[in-house]
Amino acid sequence: MSSSAPLSIVEVQRRVGAELDRLAPLIDSLGALFTDAGHELHLVGGPVRDAMLGRSHHDLDFTTSARPEVTERLLKGWGDALWDMGRDFGTIGARKGEWVVEVTTYRSESYDPSSRNPTVQYGDSLAGDLGRRDFTVNAMAVALPGREFEDPYGGIVDLAHQVLRTPGRPEDSFGDDPLRMLRAARFAAQLGFTVAPEVVAAMTAMADRITIISAERVRDELVKLICAPHPRLGLTLLVDTGLAALVLPELPALQLERDEHHRHKDVYEHTLTVLEQAIELEPRLGRADGEPDFVSRFAALMHDVGKPRTRRLVGDGTVTFHHHDVVGAKLTAKRMKALRFSNDDIEAVSKLVELHLRFHGYGSGEWTDSAVRRYVRDAGDQLERLHVLTRADCTTRNQRKADRLRRTYDDLEARIARLSQEEELASLRPDLDGNQIMAVLGIGPGREVGEAYAFLLDLRLDRGPLDEDQARAALLEWWASR
Ligand code: ATP
Ligand code: MG
Repeated sequence: MSSSAPLSIVEVQRRVGAELDRLAPLIDSLGALFTDAGHELHLVGGPVRDAMLGRSHHDLDFTTSARPEVTERLLKGWGDALWDMGRDFGTIGARKGEWVVEVTTYRSESYDPSSRNPTVQYGDSLAGDLGRRDFTVNAMAVALPGREFEDPYGGIVDLAHQVLRTPGRPEDSFGDDPLRMLRAARFAAQLGFTVAPEVVAAMTAMADRITIISAERVRDELVKLICAPHPRLGLTLLVDTGLAALVLPELPALQLERDEHHRHKDVYEHTLTVLEQAIELEPRLGRADGEPDFVSRFAALMHDVGKPRTRRLVGDGTVTFHHHDVVGAKLTAKRMKALRFSNDDIEAVSKLVELHLRFHGYGSGEWTDSAVRRYVRDAGDQLERLHVLTRADCTTRNQRKADRLRRTYDDLEARIARLSQEEELASLRPDLDGNQIMAVLGIGPGREVGEAYAFLLDLRLDRGPLDEDQARAALLEWWASR
């Protein structure tokens, strides 16, 4: 858990001051625009919180007493571009130069307990607006243009102690919007904060309310949690409160009861470590600096979910998990479908889960070139992520064994590089195309052309590239032997 020493309040205030100075060209004029028109305007939520943590935002959230029509009129003369974020939510967005602002009318939501989404009602006070926000660290505001700091729920103290607490009773807050329970886990993972004990207790008691939330909203929070810097914090909180059993049951299911001999490692703990190791290896994926890769992370989290179902105790007390890769890929696809992930994401993650064990047949380099080609071909555009997953999936404490596995994988990657260079493996085609096949065999389009194509592709994988005469001869031989 987060164990860092409390931040000093003086330092936190200094950081906000510095950030407001940086924002001055923007917030001074915007604040004057609203107050001159007789309205209040506050910088609020994420940007205030993150300023205190020493991070700056380029997307700035504001809250105002002005109704959306008024906000729109005021921003029209000020920004370079304007958009309506959904009139129902009372948010107007604007861009001015490099700045993006979103201005939302004070809210006091009322909730229909049977509905999945809050119904919005406008409110009349800043305190009311802040009181309906999820956590005290998100419920701080700075009045503009005067820069008075507004913190009715003690967010600054909670931020200094790095703890998430609700402005009111957590039971009331989660009763109003159960998604906030997942947001607690998400912010724990993003900020590295702990969650106050009374908040954890309410999450545990009320976990089953999460089932009224739409799959899309659950998915979006899970993605943010998994892409955060400390996903272990958020995931263990979800598991310990019973929320994971409802939104991602495959994860707590990994806490297999250990057999009396402790012959296998705790798969749940192993999984969290694999996820962290996959995050460390993320730079290999060549994305922009520090950019998280959801597919790679989620594949690490799901790679062993087939284990509980395939677990067998064999005669001598050994535990086996035959085909947990295939079963795990199916379970993964099913869960991702239920959470309404895109087909591309589902395909990518389940492919990685399905292939995560393949390397273990490599031994100490015994694969033929043909086996290496198949590995590359089967991984397709997931090959780089498969390298990351397979390397991350080694959590042995035996340093020599770990070193040996790493060197063996280095060897495999070197062979792939060599073969790819020689053969352009990724875009592998048979040595003859469909037209050539029809010409050689003297047949027209049909099922047989497809069969011949498959035969030639197989041959290509087994033997590497053939010249046209060799391919022609092999094709004719196959045709004759049918
Ligand atoms: P991010 O960097 O992900 O945008 P954020 O803190 O801005 O982080 P958002 O989800 O954009 O978080 O929400 C903006 C603000 O609105 C939050 O700081 C919080 O005060 C409030 N908020 C958002 N969703 C809820 C909710 N479901 N219940 C209560 N308050 C919420
Ligand atoms: Mg935001």
